[in-house]
Order: sequence, then C-alpha cells, then structure tokens
Amino acid sequence: MQRDVNNSPSRFGEGLGERSGAMMAAVYRMPGRLELEEIPVPEIGPGEILVRIDACGICGTDLKKIEYGLQPGPRVYGHEMAGVIARSEAEGWAVGDRVALLHHVACGGCFYCERGLDSQCLEYRQTATTAGFEPAGGGLAQYVRVMDRAVRRGVLRVPDHVPLENTVFLEPLNTCLKGVRRVAGRPGDTLLLLGLGPIGLMIAWLARREGYQVVGYDPIPERRGAAVAMADVQSIEGDDIPAALRALTDGRGADAAIAATPAPAAIDTAIASVRRGGRVVLFANTRADEKASVGVGAICTGDRELVGSYSASMGLIDEVCQLIFNQEIPVSELVSHRFPIQSIDRALEVARRPAPETLKVIVRPND
Ligand SMILES: [Zn+2]
Ligand SMILES: [Zn+2]
Repeated sequence: MQRDVNNSPSRFGEGLGERSGAMMAAVYRMPGRLELEEIPVPEIGPGEILVRIDACGICGTDLKKIEYGLQPGPRVYGHEMAGVIARSEAEGWAVGDRVALLHHVACGGCFYCERGLDSQCLEYRQTATTAGFEPAGGGLAQYVRVMDRAVRRGVLRVPDHVPLENTVFLEPLNTCLKGVRRVAGRPGDTLLLLGLGPIGLMIAWLARREGYQVVGYDPIPERRGAAVAMADVQSIEGDDIPAALRALTDGRGADAAIAATPAPAAIDTAIASVRRGGRVVLFANTRADEKASVGVGAICTGDRELVGSYSASMGLIDEVCQLIFNQEIPVSELVSHRFPIQSIDRALEVARRPAPETLKVIVRPND
C-alpha cells in the first residue's frame, strides 16, 4: 500500500477547534472486545503534547489484556504508535513534528534504573500516554495525550524520509534486542528460536546480526517458510526439537534458546534443547501470574540458566532508532494488514486468529 508520508499542513489539528471536539477510539469495556466510540479529544497540560496518531501496531500483550480482561475498563489500549504533533505545550516540540512515542519511560535515577533494569522502575510501569480513561497507551484512538514525563524521554523525532508506520516497530524491536542481548552468547553460537511470528522474525534478524546461527520452529509451516526466506533462519520440524538441535551441534544441544511464544510446552522444549551450561530466555510469558511446569533437574544438574526478558530498555533506544531509520531492519515487510479504526473488530480478529500469512496488524486511526 502506498501512502502519503508528507506532512500535509492542512491535516494538522484536523477537527481541533477552540474546543477540543470529539474523536473516534476503540474502547475496552469488558473482556473479549473493543467498542468503537466517540470520546473527547484529550486535553493537555503544561509540558505535554497531543499527537494525531498515524499508525498503531496491535501487540500480543494488547490481545491478552483484552481477551482475559487483565485490567478493569474502560481503557484505550495500543502502544506501538507514531503520529504528528497536533498541539504542544512542551518546549522543543511544535505542531507538525513527526514523532514516535514510548508509552513507558523510566525515571533514570532509582534503584532499578541505576542497575540498568529500566522495565522494573516503578515510574516505567506507570503508563505515560493516554487517549482518555485510565492511561493504557491510547494508540487505538485518533489522538493521544503524551504526559510530561514521557515527553522528556519518550518522544522520538522521526526523520522526514522515514515512514511513520515503520516507527511503530521501535518499541517491539527494542524489546527484541533486549531479549537477544540477554542470550549473552558468542558469535557462531547456535540459538534456538521458538515462535516465528512478527516478534520471532525481529528476534531472528537481530540475532543473525549478532552472529548467531538461528534455528527456528513454529507450528505454522508458512511462518517457518517466511523465517527462512526473510531472516535466514534454519527451519526444523516439530516432532523432536531437542533431537534436531543435538543433531546440529555434535550432540550437545543449542547454546541458547529464546521462547518467543507463551505456549507453556515451549519452555520445557527449550530447556531440553539447550546444552549443559546453556541459557533459556523467556520472552513471551507476560502475565504476572503465569505458571508452567519445567524440568528443574535439567536446569540444576546441567548448570543451565533460565532468565526472563521483559519490555524495552532505555539504553537501547538510539541503537534501535538507527536500525529502523537507516532501514537496516526491513520492518515494513512485517506488515500484513492495515485497518481504519472503524474496522477495529476485524483488526482484532485477524491479530487474534492469525492466518498462515498474517504478520503484523496495523490500525490507522485517521485514514
Ligand atoms: Zn507491545
Ligand atoms: Zn527508575
């Protein structure tokens, strides 16, 4: 789909008169669905900006929150977002600036921040962008308010030559790069990647870039095919994944594994597939109360490590921006569907029940 990526000044602040007016938003009220509603355009205060959303990616965590009702409604979800500033009360930011937004921003000075654990910072865990109601991201609406603490560290200027839509991948790519760095292996190491959806593909690209040999599995054959074609992944069949990894590594097993799927069985498969002293990174078990039965004997007696990786890292923002701005990572190839906000039901359905060729689903609230 070809889009106009120029800033057409006539569209700034569209629908925004003296009073803020109304906008369309996909509002979560009860588990399982979103309601398309007309709600007020958010008011902004000193130090804040209002952004007209160009594109918002639908993330697996959004789907989980909607499906399982993990948080009380009403809320407007959507956090992988980019757009154009429609109002500014913040120094250094003007109407018409093209920006990508981070909905979580670490304070930079607390116990966790000092140890590089941004995503455990208490301030990080409080969502700093909202389209109204309890702050929850707000990208699935036509306008989003960026609170002052997010303006300070969470608004990223997008160069004119970069399509705004590409920058919705900044946050997920950051989480993927953090996960890949958690592997902490050596170039040439064999990395097992379980789950080859859009997140798995980003992990594969980044892992190849760090020099790992990536061996990937996904139950959907088309996803395995895409990972081979797009990310130079060596695909394996699923009947006996640990045996397949041993066959590729002189009988040792993979040096490390990343479970980029919440399927509980994947964790045990990953543990059984890594060699002694190997590491398994849990990437997709994002429900705090999630439980799984795992082979603890193999961890203890094999000197193996089981580690988590959650959300993004402020320290990786510059690197991730370069990867996307310089098109080193072809994120636009990951977009399989685009929907206007009026089709939010369909967008959720496609994301929730991916067809073999479904990758990233993008909502474009102002189209
Ligand atoms: Zn996300
Ligand atoms: Zn902090």
